[in-house]
Amino acid sequence: MPTIQQNSVTVSEGITIHPPKRLLFGPGPTQVHPRVYQAMAQPIVGHLDPYFFEVSQANQRMLRHVFGTTNEWTFVISATGSGGMEAAVSNFVEPGMKVGIFANGFFCDRMTEMARRNGADVVRFEKPWGGAFGDTEAAEFIHREKPKVVMYVTAETSTGVFQRGEAICHAAHEVGALIIADCVTSLGAMPVHVDQTGIDIAYSCTQKGLSCPPGLSPITVSPRAVEWLQARKSTNRSWYFDIKLIGDYLFVSHRYHHTASATLFYALHEGLSLIEEEGLENRWERHRQAHLEFVKGIGAMELEMLVPAEYRIWNLNTPRVPEAVDDAKVRATLLKDNGIEIAGGFGPLAGKVFRIGLMGPLATSDHVQDFLARFGAALRGAGYKG
Ligand SMILES: *Cc1c(COP(=O)(O)O)cnc(C)c1O
Repeated sequence: MPTIQQNSVTVSEGITIHPPKRLLFGPGPTQVHPRVYQAMAQPIVGHLDPYFFEVSQANQRMLRHVFGTTNEWTFVISATGSGGMEAAVSNFVEPGMKVGIFANGFFCDRMTEMARRNGADVVRFEKPWGGAFGDTEAAEFIHREKPKVVMYVTAETSTGVFQRGEAICHAAHEVGALIIADCVTSLGAMPVHVDQTGIDIAYSCTQKGLSCPPGLSPITVSPRAVEWLQARKSTNRSWYFDIKLIGDYLFVSHRYHHTASATLFYALHEGLSLIEEEGLENRWERHRQAHLEFVKGIGAMELEMLVPAEYRIWNLNTPRVPEAVDDAKVRATLLKDNGIEIAGGFGPLAGKVFRIGLMGPLATSDHVQDFLARFGAALRGAGYKG
């Protein structure tokens, strides 16, 4: 029989929720600040309560700042980052539409799959995983294909590549296309500058650069894209991700659409407040410094980074696994002996790279130094002689 004990929750006989202490140095979820946990412990209010909408409005305001946009349509979807992707695709991709995708990693392939399921005629500019797109070749692809929607990933978490978007957006606008940019890992840790770059639709998640728990997907939509959406003739095949309906609930009529989680809205509010208090530029700079210090340490260990310096994501680093070292063994040692989570590569990069996140509370010199020491020991334990 299930019982309820004080200060812990018995989910079934003999198993209580006492998670092991972890330092989340992976690609996400990332380390959550204690103040965010405190916010989550507050009592929930209803999803139509005036207080709920106050929190939601404050989140919208702070998200505009973090995204670098004045878009009125900036809000959150009750879903993880993939839900934001699904919302972007299902609202802006119609059957038979030509969609151009910059494809150089796992998440571009997920975009492709979603676009195809929405009936798009997908054209892809492909690079091997770990590659990035130059300005000229990117513009040439768009001018040649003239797609109606262009999609790219700013921070490709499967490879560690940061893709600059200015040339892509400029060319896309020249051919009258809308631009969807995945800002899942970048938002909150690196500049994304939505308006300045020319991105029409950007989406993210809460558990990577924003260092909150998973469960929400911030999204922002330019006035031009809103206009396009209002004029769309076919119905979005997805009811749940129809952003006209979600927007109506969150900031127009406040009428029920779905039961949004007050707990997660509180968490995001606290996470965004922490960013405001630190200062967005300061936070970016802290992540950049942590990244540079990490890369220096990697060099001192005679390891190599997969991605050339100018294309590196600051908050997600991909050093190569050295010759004859089993990366699974290194990861297992870190987790078992140090409570540290990192991730390995997958797809074409399986066994070839480590994926190491330096985000939120862990993007500090102390944490980087501590991590490097433990990482070095784990590597030597797996036979590395460097
Ligand atoms: C993690 C990630 C996603 C998917 O987000 P989920 O929250 O896991 O659904 C999409 N795009 C990128 C670049 C990601 O890193």
